[in-house]
Amino acid sequence: MVQCRQLMTSPLVPVSPANPTRPVGQSLLQIVPSTACLRCDVCCRFPERDSFLRPFFTSDEIRGAVAAGLAPELFPTTEGAQVDLVTNPAGEGYVCPAFDSETSHCRIYDVRPLDCRLYPFALMWDAERAQVVLGWDTKCPYMREAPSALVDQAADAVAQWIEQDERVATLARYPRLIGRFQEDVIPLRTLAKVTERVQDGKTRIRRQALSIEDRGRLESALAVTAGFQEMPLAAASFAYHYIWRHRLTYTWAELQGHLYLFAESPDGLFLALPPLGEGSFDQPIAEAFRVMRDWNGDSRVTRMDNVPEACVPALRALGYEVTEKEPDYVYAAADLVDLAGEAYRSPRAACNRFVREQGGVVEPYDRRDRTACLSLFHEWREQKQRNGPDDWANALLDDAAGAHELALSGPAELGLTGVVLRVAGRIRAYTLGLWLNQSVFCVLMEVADRDIVGAGAFVFREFCRQALAKGACWINTMDDSGLPSLAKAKHWYHPARLVPNYVVTESRR
Ligand code: SF4
Repeated sequence: MVQCRQLMTSPLVPVSPANPTRPVGQSLLQIVPSTACLRCDVCCRFPERDSFLRPFFTSDEIRGAVAAGLAPELFPTTEGAQVDLVTNPAGEGYVCPAFDSETSHCRIYDVRPLDCRLYPFALMWDAERAQVVLGWDTKCPYMREAPSALVDQAADAVAQWIEQDERVATLARYPRLIGRFQEDVIPLRTLAKVTERVQDGKTRIRRQALSIEDRGRLESALAVTAGFQEMPLAAASFAYHYIWRHRLTYTWAELQGHLYLFAESPDGLFLALPPLGEGSFDQPIAEAFRVMRDWNGDSRVTRMDNVPEACVPALRALGYEVTEKEPDYVYAAADLVDLAGEAYRSPRAACNRFVREQGGVVEPYDRRDRTACLSLFHEWREQKQRNGPDDWANALLDDAAGAHELALSGPAELGLTGVVLRVAGRIRAYTLGLWLNQSVFCVLMEVADRDIVGAGAFVFREFCRQALAKGACWINTMDDSGLPSLAKAKHWYHPARLVPNYVVTESRR
């Protein structure tokens, strides 16, 4: 499996690696000789169809690629977009549609996009999202062996080329050409002109990488935002978002007295929550959509997620499109602990059977339990996959691994609390959750050995019992992600409320 995205398959243009420091003018230095590229099986291939590394084409580059033979339908928009990948005809995963798997050549080499021409150099934000940097991708085998002096000289030449007015203007117009921070790309040069233009130019808003230190800032803003007080959505919390940072790039900005939490997927930028803060949100929302439009062009990803019901009438009155998505499931905490009556006969029987046949000890989660919990997660995932979940459920399970790893690594920093269930000394279940307010506790994740009947039901009940003892009236177990099996499990416990959750987009009329 590979993650790179470009291949210099034709003779290199226009500079010999032996002389990388010649004036670059209008031409872009290529450091890797074509012989090395042709031997390599890394570039232009991708593990996922929606890989964030697939190449971005500006509108001119789309026109050039289409004229060179690529189908126009491969581009979601003609205004600048990442190309749609196609199934790899020669192996696993996906390839760029311009890639010829038989010859390992790029079919549109002469008009390949800037994104590809730069490689194995790459443009990205630094870890703090404060500066645009030029880096080199350690996934390129040639670069790993290249003398550092050569890489250094080439970086100077490429950085100089990038900082020319024409390229800076292109990057300001297409900021998605600048990738998110990647740990396996080594920063070489800071691009001051590009940074200044992209930060202060068209988008006029400084977004900063979301870090663990921003938890207090986000929680304070959530606490004063209309619609998130009495019965908040699970999304109205820091950890709910932060644990997915391996899949989405989260940034925040402050403007007009509001805090904006943006998330960036391979398709572009969206607002993970409505603008947070007190007072009217008309202008903050208009500003947020302007920022997203600037960044995304007319990509369909432009939207505002996790909007509570209280905001819906005002948003409709402002002319936005409001669509309901899967609601959060909320239960009376006492019901989940008592499991009384006919309605709870099945979960009660499951708990009783677990106690009768296994017994077990529930203990607070400790950081030292991390390895055992992660190993249980992988067992649990295999158990679920053996039952043949659909592709969507499989993809969610794969994504969930990173979220569990992060949550188990530092629960306290994320505001999480958790328990483990030990059976005969071994951890056979764990669960983590957080307080959404003083009376609503959210169960964020739960994993239990599916071969032990009742282990999941038992650890869930005991976790809810602890929350009830600390003042929880309500338990939120999040939404069902549109999965029928998950919806069935959540209805098993008879939710007291389904808390509506909305997605807001600009009207296309
Ligand atoms: S456009 Fe060409 S160089 Fe770029 S990813 Fe596609 S095949 Fe590779």
